[in-house]
Amino acid sequence: MFFFYTGNMAIYDPTKTPGDVYDTHTHLNDDALYHDVAAYVGRAREFRVMEMNVVGYDPKGNQRAIQIAHDFSDKGIRAIVGFQPEDTNKFDQSAEEVLRKQLSDPVVIGVGETGLDWHWKGFDRDAQINSFERHLDLAAEFDLPTTIHMRDSFEDLYRILKERRLSKFEMHSFAGGPEQAEKLVDLGAYISFSGMVTFKNAKEIHEAAKVVPLDRILVETDAPYLAPVPNRGKTNEPAWTKFVVDGLAKVLEIDRNQLAKITVENAHRLWPKN
Ligand SMILES: [Zn+2]
Repeated sequence: MFFFYTGNMAIYDPTKTPGDVYDTHTHLNDDALYHDVAAYVGRAREFRVMEMNVVGYDPKGNQRAIQIAHDFSDKGIRAIVGFQPEDTNKFDQSAEEVLRKQLSDPVVIGVGETGLDWHWKGFDRDAQINSFERHLDLAAEFDLPTTIHMRDSFEDLYRILKERRLSKFEMHSFAGGPEQAEKLVDLGAYISFSGMVTFKNAKEIHEAAKVVPLDRILVETDAPYLAPVPNRGKTNEPAWTKFVVDGLAKVLEIDRNQLAKITVENAHRLWPKN
């Protein structure tokens, strides 16, 4: 059966407790949220978002992600560290040494975010490709899954992933269409959907969601960005993974609690807790 929720109520009817949810990609380390991490974690748990990956993107973001994961390790929080495409210029020799040490920390469960972003002009494409390749090397060396950012860069990214025969990776905040999703799933990808899947006009993303096998689907907020309906345009937060699950369940026409359970199981398969 389906459960329907109205509005923004934080407290649920206890007889209808919704299933636990895992936000696989969030930025409590971002200035927009970092000032009040405990409050956001508390609110997430009210919404049954019981686990999350805080994802780094530059030296400060990585350091904060690890610190948050240490402070809240008993609240299901883990860290993922790496250099996002816009910050690859900071990924020099000494930054890589720091990253290596961080990847040995038990609260760190993955490499990222990394990837290719051809959307914003003015960034060095060769530098992005080089950084992406180095991150994939590190993921292989440390035997960790990779969190991948792709924007307007499918062809190049797919070519590299295909050569690498990578086995464990998440395509985060997926915004491609069904053909791209199918090709990436064939390479072993887990496809993670963000608040964009709740947007009515995101037809391509809806079609993509329908072709991804249920055992490869993940959910995320990418907070503070991409707030889902009904909070579109606001500062996003991990609690609202709930709305992503609701929206995705509607697109897939399956029970939202069943979907929540499946996505948690998938996340545990990709990032087995240590
Ligand atoms: Zn992100």
